[in-house]
Amino acid sequence: MGVYSRAPLAFERGEGSRLYTADGEAYLDCMAGIAVNALGHANPVLVDALKAQAEKLWHVSNIFKIPGQEALADRLTSISFADVVFFTNSGTEAIECAIKTARKHHWANGQPERIDIIGFEGSFHGRTIAAVNASGNPSYLEGFGPPLPGFVHLPFGDVELIRKAIGPTTAAIVVEPVQGEGGARAWTEAALCEIRQLCDETGVLLIYDEIQCGLGRTGKLFAYEWAEDAAPDIMALAKALGGGFPVGACLATVDAAKGMTVGSHGSTYGGNPLAMAVGLAAVDELIKPALMDHVNELAGYLNQQLTGLRERFPDVVVDIRGKGLLIGIKLATPNREFMQHARDEHLLIAGGGDNCVRLLPPLVLTQAEAREAIEKLERACERARTQAKAA
Ligand code: PLP
Repeated sequence: MGVYSRAPLAFERGEGSRLYTADGEAYLDCMAGIAVNALGHANPVLVDALKAQAEKLWHVSNIFKIPGQEALADRLTSISFADVVFFTNSGTEAIECAIKTARKHHWANGQPERIDIIGFEGSFHGRTIAAVNASGNPSYLEGFGPPLPGFVHLPFGDVELIRKAIGPTTAAIVVEPVQGEGGARAWTEAALCEIRQLCDETGVLLIYDEIQCGLGRTGKLFAYEWAEDAAPDIMALAKALGGGFPVGACLATVDAAKGMTVGSHGSTYGGNPLAMAVGLAAVDELIKPALMDHVNELAGYLNQQLTGLRERFPDVVVDIRGKGLLIGIKLATPNREFMQHARDEHLLIAGGGDNCVRLLPPLVLTQAEAREAIEKLERACERARTQAKAA
């Protein structure tokens, strides 16, 4: 189906932060499959985990015990707020599970009328019907029938409006602590704490979508850890969880998941042995403290250099935002054109809302590669300036 506007570029192989075309041309990958290849391409640890599992067992069914699933669930609960996990194949399915978990929680509490999910403008939660209804981008709903009941949208960043919007039918608030698609907009730590408090006062469940910003991308294992006492009740993960192998997870406290009893949810593939082997290997790499130190160091360097670019190219770069290695560059010139300028420099970057481009490099990007990315971005800025002048 013609649903993608694809760049005229294909890759044959990848290694670390580089992608290579069939002709052997190298590109510096600063989008990592949109925050997926956090450990780089063809990471040997992940390759070994996949190969070893592929030779033993690919798939059974969730009607059997799956030891790899128990191991990854144990790991995820030991490093987060959560007690229980449901595994999916994608981010949007993890959000789907989060919404179902929240509504079923209230149903189990004898409050079936609590179905409303409060979301935010500019948010993105995936492409299933429920996920596009939860997302704050009306264009993704166009033509797919009337908006579903039970979804409310508020402007980004205004906690007072959330307080006013919470009512007797509110089930949950779904927040990306750092919006990805929306253009790398971060909620303040104070706002996340206030939202947590509001939820505690009202019995509303707090869902974090850390599909893009989680698992080390912001310089902490989970973005919510930047705020003290703002842990969620439910959290969706995906992307970096499999480092390129399709896997997602919905994490919850045992109380939040009280309605998710036998038969209330399921998946054929979710949590199969192949995905769990890669997921466990990926998480064990991502939780290494040295990696988080590296991410924070790199993020500081890139932020400083990008601020310099903004000063040298105020006609091109308007703002630098985001957190850690989820970096948004808001532009004065069209972002799609800027992505092409970057590709002309053999640098891959992602687009984003609010006329941003995003840098989402593998977390293992080296300091030398970060320098190279800045040099390429500088040349892309020069191209954008020249094009704007010629127009
Ligand atoms: N939520 C966020 C924050 C995302 O960035 C994405 C994907 O970009 C999704 C949900 C949907 O994930 P998937 O494309 O794996 O379904």
